Amino acid sequence: MGAAPPQDRPVIVGAGLAGLLTAVHLAPLPCVVLTTGRLAEHTSTDLAQGGIAAALHPGDSPLLHALDTLHAGAGLSDPGTAERITAAAPAAVEHLAALGARFDRTPDGAFTLGLEAAHSRHRVAHAGGDATGHEVLRAAIAAVRATPSITVLQHARAVRVVTGDDGRVAGVVVAAGGAPELIRTDRVVLATGGAGGLFRHTTNPTGSRGQGLALAARAGAELRDLEMVQFHPTALDVGLDPMPLVTEALRGAGARLVDAAGDRLLEDDLAPRDVVARAVFAELERGGRVFLDAREALGAAARFPTVAAACRAAGIDPRRAPMPVRPAAHYLMGGVSVDGRGRTTVAGLWAVGEVASTGLHGANRLASNSLLEAAVCARWVAQDVAGQEGRRGPRLGSPAPQPGPAAEPAGGAAELRTLMSECVGVLRDGATLTHAVDRLGATVDRAGLDATDDATLAALLLATSALRREESRGAHTRTDFPGAAEPRHLTLTLEDGLGGLLTPAHRRSAT
Ligand SMILES: Cc1cc2nc3c(=O)[nH]c(=O)nc-3n(C[C@H](O)[C@H](O)[C@H](O)COP(=O)(O)OP(=O)(O)OC[C@H]3O[C@@H](n4cnc5c(N)ncnc54)[C@H](O)[C@@H]3O)c2cc1C
Repeated sequence: MGAAPPQDRPVIVGAGLAGLLTAVHLAPLPCVVLTTGRLAEHTSTDLAQGGIAAALHPGDSPLLHALDTLHAGAGLSDPGTAERITAAAPAAVEHLAALGARFDRTPDGAFTLGLEAAHSRHRVAHAGGDATGHEVLRAAIAAVRATPSITVLQHARAVRVVTGDDGRVAGVVVAAGGAPELIRTDRVVLATGGAGGLFRHTTNPTGSRGQGLALAARAGAELRDLEMVQFHPTALDVGLDPMPLVTEALRGAGARLVDAAGDRLLEDDLAPRDVVARAVFAELERGGRVFLDAREALGAAARFPTVAAACRAAGIDPRRAPMPVRPAAHYLMGGVSVDGRGRTTVAGLWAVGEVASTGLHGANRLASNSLLEAAVCARWVAQDVAGQEGRRGPRLGSPAPQPGPAAEPAGGAAELRTLMSECVGVLRDGATLTHAVDRLGATVDRAGLDATDDATLAALLLATSALRREESRGAHTRTDFPGAAEPRHLTLTLEDGLGGLLTPAHRRSAT
């Protein structure tokens, strides 16, 4: 880390849109931002294509946006949260524009608004055509660099959130090449992104493996609905890892899913993602292939440079030939349980962005609602974190930081990712899920909980949740429980979730 890291200021773990905007909103209160790479590296934000949803058109309203969100959420979204976030959406997009994000505009200066799956209105603001994430991140990074109260520690991995005897957050242990160091702080914000990298087929940065879930669980926080993983139906199937995403906005512009014979796969190509992902997966399971025919859509618009470039790199000309696609793990709807201020169940620990479960997405995220959630909730979290100033409990001394968990799964991540794709993928059942839980549980047992890497622990928690939800709802499809049960959240802590799986010695270290 070089110089000693600053102490006694809020620490934000993660430098995607959620983490950076939290830091910007905290200013002038000093804070520290940690990121595993350099700024912009290792983030899903940089890869986001379609855009950010907000009722920005006079013919639209936050209420309609909230209703579409609830409809996609399949009974698990929280109506109050959906209303609050969609009401705050237009101002959040304007704030990004004010930070310098260059959104695509009509000649009279209005936002150009795209249509995406399951939205009843054109309401997706975008930038650089399909390079929205890159542009909003660029603007957020510029704002951070221009804010002297923010200290960014690059190549710095949080390995443990430390709590005191009173259960409150007392610090965070950081590994940055050398020996792990303790940063004393009573306020930690997890903004670590999602967990798609736990799966062999993913659109996420491959290092995005649920580290924030493991950090929160080890600190004693409650996790919620972890089994709700959104599989994007159209990742470009050309052998790349991560798989390039073919944005849904392309289907909004007229592209169609077809089988090898060129016949349409679905009547409604803009049906919710889970429906489309299952249809694509079923065709692949039958031994077929699936293509996105965007010949006309791409011919009509220069709006999709990212998709066009990914195709070109793979030797495909999407204006002449359909693109091969398959579903890929894309977004984690569940996460660390938070309330309306982003507080987790551990005092002094907040979560924001994809790692958090606010109740917005329920069992299925509506397209382009996640950049929105990150932008809106970052403000609320920052306000709450700043409001805790001066309410410190007893300070932790300077205990020697523990070595922390392994950085990587034993034997590398490939085996873990294959297991997750095969057993906890688009279609699940009790037998495959039990197999995954047993295998992962045995790995944790062998290494001991403290030494187990975060990816393995996050995978075990996710598979355990999927096994426990005995119904099909939204993105979670159990072939052995095809119907929906009464809607309910599935919560899990390390102790109650894994207590039964581990040997007594390791169970003790889970407390
Ligand atoms: C290909 C793709 C396209 C998408 N398109 C859209 C879209 O059009 N619209 C939309 O709304 N959403 C989209 N999404 C989803 C959206 O991009 C993400 O949900 C959102 O950007 C997540 O932001 P975040 O800040 O929570 O996390 P991220 O942007 O993923 O950032 C995570 C940060 O946490 C850091 N980190 C992780 N663990 C640690 C640790 N232990 N210590 C220190 N730092 C850590 C990482 O280094 C990184 O800086 C897309 C996602 C992908 C992958």
